[in-house]
Amino acid sequence: MEFRLNDEEAAFQAAVRKFGDRVLRTHERQIDADGRIPDDVLHAMAELGLLAMPVPTEYGGIGASAVLTELAAEEVGRGDFSMATAVFFLLEAGWGYLLSRHGTEAAKREVLPPVCRGEAFLGIATTEPTGGSDLAGLKTTSRRDGAKFVLHGEKAFVSGVEEAKRLGGGHLTLSKSPAGGFNFLYVPTRSSGVTTQRFENMGRMGISTGGLTYADVAVPDRYLVGSEGKGFECAMEGFSVARTFVSAACIGAAERALETGMKYIRERTAFGQPLGKFEAIQFELVDLWAQVEAVKWQCRRAAWLLDTYTMKGDRSHRSEVDLAVASVKLTAPPIAFECVKRVMMWFGAAGYTKDVGLELGLRGIMSYLVGAEGGLNIMRIILGRELLGKEFLPYK
Ligand SMILES: Cc1cc2nc3c(=O)[nH]c(=O)nc-3n(C[C@H](O)[C@H](O)[C@H](O)COP(=O)(O)OP(=O)(O)OC[C@H]3O[C@@H](n4cnc5c(N)ncnc54)[C@H](O)[C@@H]3O)c2cc1C
Repeated sequence: MEFRLNDEEAAFQAAVRKFGDRVLRTHERQIDADGRIPDDVLHAMAELGLLAMPVPTEYGGIGASAVLTELAAEEVGRGDFSMATAVFFLLEAGWGYLLSRHGTEAAKREVLPPVCRGEAFLGIATTEPTGGSDLAGLKTTSRRDGAKFVLHGEKAFVSGVEEAKRLGGGHLTLSKSPAGGFNFLYVPTRSSGVTTQRFENMGRMGISTGGLTYADVAVPDRYLVGSEGKGFECAMEGFSVARTFVSAACIGAAERALETGMKYIRERTAFGQPLGKFEAIQFELVDLWAQVEAVKWQCRRAAWLLDTYTMKGDRSHRSEVDLAVASVKLTAPPIAFECVKRVMMWFGAAGYTKDVGLELGLRGIMSYLVGAEGGLNIMRIILGRELLGKEFLPYK
């Protein structure tokens, strides 16, 4: 057992933290106000190898481990507190990995290099207007027609619809096959028959969320991810990876909130002494810190499990991986939200201002509480299934 970063990991973490401090923190307000991440920030991320970093070098990535990507996600979440850049980062990392592992050679060569350069977007489209938790109940269909699939249906609350239109790129899209099972297809957003709609969110404004409508879209079969009818399993593998990086970004944001709070309660005085001397506040800090520390190492272990098994195609430890990933996705967003909320209160009235900036984190992290990459109750259902057995699933 080894509970410390090796030299390469520590150096990489330091480099990404420096980038987060110098570039992401200085742009986060602009990202929130303008509703987009500036292209030069994306290019700077690409130069550092931060876009779709687990993608192998032959397709433009740096072939990073899940552990290294988890460390980077922590720093991106710490750097851009609005979470917009973290969402961009983790979608490219999680779904870029998935495409590099299960896509056709032609799709990998075509789609991944521009994604890794920050010149195209790659996301995930599973949620539909009728719901996102019950994925097996989705309604979008894709039927094979010679060398293509014909996609029909609708997706909703999908991240990056505007970015995929503006930069190019698309989404890995889950649909039902009339032949049985599910097809997972890469669908370029600029395809004929695809229309988009932007929803107005309350937070993480720098990355769009919206709807996608497919009116009999012709999708070439080179864009099939995994095998025909087996797309569900593929999507689940992608969620395991993406949920780990979501959790890492939340941990980075939680640490930033606590750092901000610690600096303040050392300096701010009330009743003749620093706030940090009052146990009511000091004990709150240490309780939060202890929980963040626990979730952080749990998250790093989840990444290690992904490296050791899932990303090598070894499903023999699937249950252990699912338990670890669902645990961190269940605990990291709420603890991050709690850290930001508590620190806002230590700041008193100033915490409620945009100048202090904690509200950015509060609005961004909330997206992971309401459902992005799977709602908290879905994580509970996964944990219950693994702990008690499938017969205890709360639905048929
Ligand atoms: C900012 C943002 C970005 C997103 N980006 C994407 C994206 O890029 N791609 C994409 O496909 N989707 C995306 N989503 C959608 C997300 O995946 C869904 O919100 C999520 O899967 C939940 O689906 P739902 O919102 O339809 O809620 P529902 O499925 O309708 O569930 C509503 C509530 O009920 C709970 N619930 C559901 N079933 C059960 C049950 N059996 N037991 C107990 N509780 C239950 C859920 O946890 C949730 O709290 C995004 C969402 C947000 C907020």
